[in-house]
Amino acid sequence: MRELTHFIGGQHVKGTSGRFADGFQPMTGEVISRVPLASKAELRAAVENARDAQPAWAATNPQRRARVLMKFVELLNRDMDQLAELLAREHGKTVPDARGDIVRGLEVAEFCIGVPHLLKGEYTTDAGPGIDLYSLRQPLGVVAGITPFNFPAMIPMWKFCPAIACGNAFILKPSERDPSVPLKLAELMIEAGLPAGILNVVNGDKEAVDALLDDPDIRAVGFVGSTPIAEYIYARGCAAGKRVQCFGGAKNHMVIMPDADLDQTVDALIGAGYGSAGERCMAISVAVPVGEATANALIAKLVPRVEALKIGPSTDLAADYGPVVTRAHLDKIKAYVDLGVNEGAKLLVDGRGFSLQGYENGFYMGGCLFDGVTPDMRIYKEEIFGPVLSVARADTFDTALRMCNDHEYGNGVAIYTRDGDTARDFAARVNVGMVGVNVPIPVPLAYYTFGGWKRSSFGDLNQHGADSVRFYTKTKTVTSRWPSGVKEGASFVIPTMH
Ligand code: NAD
Repeated sequence: MRELTHFIGGQHVKGTSGRFADGFQPMTGEVISRVPLASKAELRAAVENARDAQPAWAATNPQRRARVLMKFVELLNRDMDQLAELLAREHGKTVPDARGDIVRGLEVAEFCIGVPHLLKGEYTTDAGPGIDLYSLRQPLGVVAGITPFNFPAMIPMWKFCPAIACGNAFILKPSERDPSVPLKLAELMIEAGLPAGILNVVNGDKEAVDALLDDPDIRAVGFVGSTPIAEYIYARGCAAGKRVQCFGGAKNHMVIMPDADLDQTVDALIGAGYGSAGERCMAISVAVPVGEATANALIAKLVPRVEALKIGPSTDLAADYGPVVTRAHLDKIKAYVDLGVNEGAKLLVDGRGFSLQGYENGFYMGGCLFDGVTPDMRIYKEEIFGPVLSVARADTFDTALRMCNDHEYGNGVAIYTRDGDTARDFAARVNVGMVGVNVPIPVPLAYYTFGGWKRSSFGDLNQHGADSVRFYTKTKTVTSRWPSGVKEGASFVIPTMH
């Protein structure tokens, strides 16, 4: 069994708190590592390291900082296969899906290569007599990210790539359930040329998080995880005077209009509902067919597809999805299915009893499909985060739209239709942050921004894209007047940044 470390000051550092969490391999159910849980003192050591290293990094010209990310992208591509396998074994998702996790993070690293352009300020010459006015974007100093288990490569990169490109030092507190890939990413950043101390990984639980929220040298905190923790971190971080953005849970609806192509819709629903065992914040967990005929036709096509889902170990390249992350999470999902039955929903496909031959101790769950789910049920209101899809029927488009708008979460939503007018009206009126039109999982690309609405997000800037540069910098505006100047000196050599 491996004992994992922290990564501080450019090196692996053993945990000294004496507290550890078990790290599982979900496909076999084995404990494969011990994850150190940092104390307040260990967190503080990382912050001091970051604080000391940050000024020189901020003073490094932005093209040079961007070149580190350029090299990092090259190294990610070089090591893609090993990273994907490591990620799949620790998280449970399949190896091809793990590659997607890494690539969606890599794309944000690519976006950040443009940081010299993104950091440019504004300039007005002769704003008054002899007066020039300009704005600068300066890094905040030491910033931190607290990330969830379900995208252990993508979400850490969404946080540290823009923060570091902007000249900050970064403390990453990844999920204690799958910290191996985050540790590898930190190693790769050092290999790419990042100075020691600029990216530190501190493993831990609530104790490390609370220490980070209270630390006076941490200027900003970005969080992704469940809504109750998002709310807690937002309140405590803001009370400590930090800039905070927190992204929380979801219950994403797919509205299916009577004119939708049902074969395409069912293909989309199967992937979006059950891919990664439903452990995605952008998974579709509620299908809302409009009209009885649409609902009946959808169910007729969906049931055999859910029954035919291929569930396998994470290393099975042909599997549709693998195990869920821990036994505790598996039990929680099964309890939600029990609850749905008790609440009166119709369980058309029951995956609770699924077991995989040869992997009997793995955390596997068959696909479950509910029909007759209504907005008053807890299985409709709460995030299950497993391979469980609910069909909640709507009589009209307006009812379907109202269901999306009334739900407390507002992360993603999709509509399937052939009618442009319906799609436009839906996109305009739906009270949700990310909308797909005949696209089931509308995760925006790196050069747009990612963020939900309502109780899926706390704070007012999104992740990646232009918002990430705003979040990780502060604006300074300079008004200057030079009564007289010295006009001297000439250089005949083209200036470069080398
Ligand atoms: P989680 O809230 O349990 O954990 C997230 C992070 O918070 C982890 O680093 C964890 O160590 C820390 N944490 C957990 N409990 C804490 C506590 N009591 N005090 C302080 N810190 C604590 O979430 P998870 O189970 O790792 O991830 C799944 C959740 O994340 C789902 O709700 C999913 O929808 C959400 N998610 C949201 C987005 C988004 O962008 N909106 C993206 C991915 C995942």
